[in-house]
Amino acid sequence: MIEVNDNFRLLPVSYLFSEVGRRIAAFKAENPGKEVIRMDIGDVTTPLFPSVVKAMHEAVDEMSTVEGFRGYGPEQGYPFLRDAIALNDYRQRGIDIMSDDIFVSDGAKSDLGNLGDIYSRDCTVAVMNPSYPVYVDDSVIDGRAGVLTDGIWSNLVYLDCDPDNGFLPKLPERHADVIFLCFPDNPTGVAIGKAELQKWVDYAREHGSLIIYDSAYEAFVRTPGIVRSIYEIPGAIDVAIEVRSFSKTAGFTGLRCGYTVVPKSVKGRYADGSEVSLNSLWNRRQTTKFNGCSYVSQRAAAAVYTTGGRHDVKAATDYYLHNASIIKEALVKVGFKAYGGDDSPYVWASPCDGRGSWDLFNMLLHEFNFSTTPGCGFGTLGEGYVRFTGFNTLENTRKAMERLVEGF
Ligand SMILES: *Cc1c(COP(=O)(O)O)cnc(C)c1O
Repeated sequence: MIEVNDNFRLLPVSYLFSEVGRRIAAFKAENPGKEVIRMDIGDVTTPLFPSVVKAMHEAVDEMSTVEGFRGYGPEQGYPFLRDAIALNDYRQRGIDIMSDDIFVSDGAKSDLGNLGDIYSRDCTVAVMNPSYPVYVDDSVIDGRAGVLTDGIWSNLVYLDCDPDNGFLPKLPERHADVIFLCFPDNPTGVAIGKAELQKWVDYAREHGSLIIYDSAYEAFVRTPGIVRSIYEIPGAIDVAIEVRSFSKTAGFTGLRCGYTVVPKSVKGRYADGSEVSLNSLWNRRQTTKFNGCSYVSQRAAAAVYTTGGRHDVKAATDYYLHNASIIKEALVKVGFKAYGGDDSPYVWASPCDGRGSWDLFNMLLHEFNFSTTPGCGFGTLGEGYVRFTGFNTLENTRKAMERLVEGF
């Protein structure tokens, strides 16, 4: 037998989503007449846009002809898509990102983990608390997390998010090499303004850190002054990698396509001190370990930038945002503290009565018959909170929130 990566033993069993499912199933079995509304859905629910479907059909037809067939494509993505991304998401918004800074992939989750290949095992990683669990678990698998005690990893730097700072993280007290930031955030739904994000860019420039900026939810930003891309911040182009996805923007969670921006100006150093651009390292990593995202998915992604596609993105995200606003309004009405939901499909809430996340989950399930995601699953500072999502239908969202407001 071979020796395996011992870090896998360190990973705690993730029972959050299975436990949510188990408790819902048990409740339904005990209460057959009651309808449970899922307010914990962590996935988009509206079907692919007509413009996207049309582009996919055309791509399939092309592939079925001798002239149109495509085999392996460029590992970095087809130029038609890299150009569309650089132009529409960056240059038309006044940001100086070029096509060769863009690396198309099968989604943000893989890139977030794979980026760990290009920075040293010895880098200290900082994560928001609470946060999307992937940043922590990837760090564990790569051996950068240390040991776990009471929900805290010894080698990670935690960026505390709490009600005092409106769930925006505080700058680290310990030095951090690689800093994961996510805005608009999952799970808290909180978005960040330019002045606040500037502090992080300044920190990274001063301390020689790298920011890995997860902007999977940028398409939900509506409030003027709220950041969609970290490159809106002066100086970020030298210290930040941005990870994006068509998943939440355009309903690609099942189709798969995302991209990572690695500006050529972001530099690192080898052990001997010599400088190297992270763009060249990531290019080497991708060309070695990745053979590209499918042609059909990339044609589908390019359709998102057409007039019809843009209109559909706006309509779909508006729909989820409207649901989130209904959730937030209801929660405020019953006296909960509620965050997010304005530029995000997520609402993060607590009655602030000392009750734990699972107690809160149970109470909401048993008394109002809807499910949420316990906040403690996203980090120690998520305790006492639950996450609501705007991904159910408008009708179900209204129904669940009416139950809450009428019965609370
Ligand atoms: C959904 C999500 C992702 C993953 O997106 P994929 O492109 O589907 O892999 C990344 N980051 C955050 C914060 C997410 O919520």
